[in-house]
Amino acid sequence: MAEITAPRGVKDVLPGESWKWAYVLDQFRTLAEGFGFSEVHLPIFEHTELFCRGIGDTTDVVEKEMYTFEDRAGRSLTLRPEATASMVRSYLENRMASGPQPVKLWCAGPMFRYERPQKGRYRQFWQLDVEVLGSVNPLVDVEIIELSLELYRRLGMANLEVVVNSVGCPACRPAYRKALQDYLRPHLGELCGSCKSRFDRNPLRILDCKNETCKALTEGAPDVMDSLCDECRDHFAAVRKRLDLLGASTRIDKRLVRGLDYYTKTAYEVLSGDLGAQNAVCGGGRYDNLAESIGGPHVPGVGFASGIERIVLTMEQQGCSFGREPSTDVYVIAVDGAASDEAVKLLYALRRQGLRAEMDYQGRSVKAQLKTASQAAFACFLGSDEVARSVVAVKEMATGNQEELLFDGAAAAIRSKLARQEDRRP
Ligand code: AMP
Repeated sequence: MAEITAPRGVKDVLPGESWKWAYVLDQFRTLAEGFGFSEVHLPIFEHTELFCRGIGDTTDVVEKEMYTFEDRAGRSLTLRPEATASMVRSYLENRMASGPQPVKLWCAGPMFRYERPQKGRYRQFWQLDVEVLGSVNPLVDVEIIELSLELYRRLGMANLEVVVNSVGCPACRPAYRKALQDYLRPHLGELCGSCKSRFDRNPLRILDCKNETCKALTEGAPDVMDSLCDECRDHFAAVRKRLDLLGASTRIDKRLVRGLDYYTKTAYEVLSGDLGAQNAVCGGGRYDNLAESIGGPHVPGVGFASGIERIVLTMEQQGCSFGREPSTDVYVIAVDGAASDEAVKLLYALRRQGLRAEMDYQGRSVKAQLKTASQAAFACFLGSDEVARSVVAVKEMATGNQEELLFDGAAAAIRSKLARQEDRRP
């Protein structure tokens, strides 16, 4: 029988990498909580309608990339391709509008999109997500952008570029849409197949098409900034002013329209110079009409999502630190069979002290066990002689120093030694 492998585009995050993910998640959690955000756990599948209406029927995500299935009762469900629509659904359904505003939430977890897999692009990927709901204040946009930048600073990431744009609002976007269509109409025949079909349904998306001909054709396209209404223009100016004040260097990119329809006003991305084609580590912006499009009242919102895989890839490429890789604190070796009961007792006494303690379960030779122990901070040896005298031999692997400790209390003494060793670490 053929061995079953994982589906295309998904990846196992194995122990050699999962500790790096844990580090990124920890840093993100600490930072988000520090900025006043609270964690929510959202479902991984939702009614398909939520994404069709929330993200937009004519977006690539909804048209081509959703994992949609019917449950046993014939309901159409979809594995979430992103978290924002779910977050807004949850805000509405749980009546969060009745409490103090804005509501600041974060979540982290897997998202699913049927995209062509390549470096940095998977069909199941993890996003770190923050959303602020219930405020129109441009300072909230700034808070979101700053939170992402502070995360990358803390992770030691460099070579990043912050691009911002305003995609307008329902009051001013139709005029821009028309200006763009008027500009592109004479060149309709030259656009790529996807853009031809976008022309009527979603012409703004033509601006971020990666096809070289489309790119060249949109080079001289009308600037969205010229079409913004006063409210959108003032909002964008306020966001930029505060970002400048905080020293965040941003570039305006009039092509930045983002793939999801719900954006209004601010749109932004953080790009990594070390990722190749899939270079966005983070994308976000304001979505003041999303709540209405899924049947709720008007609730302004702004947020970002950042892919963990791309963060870790960038950090690895740039040699950033992920903190310390977890390793064994104490390796317990029963030198002869007579000591095996005491060795097991010591193993669990060490673990009760919160230490990462291990012993051999495979009947390997003492020499082989010593080799494994060389990776640990301490090795403990127990033979019939030690058992008879109620002691344990403890070796500090870094220095080779060895001493005997009374068996009772040995675990606590080793924990103190480890703490001192930690203190000496640079
Ligand atoms: P989006 O939800 O499309 O705005 O994407 C936000 C962020 O999620 C991107 O900047 C990436 O870091 C990450 N991301 C989006 N799609 C994928 C994917 N297919 N594989 C890996 N990461 C992704």
